[in-house]
Amino acid sequence: MKNEMKLSKCIKCNEYTLRETCPRCGEKTKNPRPAKFSPEDRYGKYRRMMKREMEKE
Ligand SMILES: [Zn+2]
Repeated sequence: MKNEMKLSKCIKCNEYTLRETCPRCGEKTKNPRPAKFSPEDRYGKYRRMMKREMEKE
């Protein structure tokens, strides 16, 4: 059952976890996207988003 191991994300803590609920706050985690992108690409996207947010100010 390898495919049961899905990376989910707590939208409250911004934390990635393999659980259905966040180990920190107990919130239900979401599966952000089908795993098309490598983790590095995903972080790159966040970095770009954050950069854009910062440039707005
Ligand atoms: Zn959480």
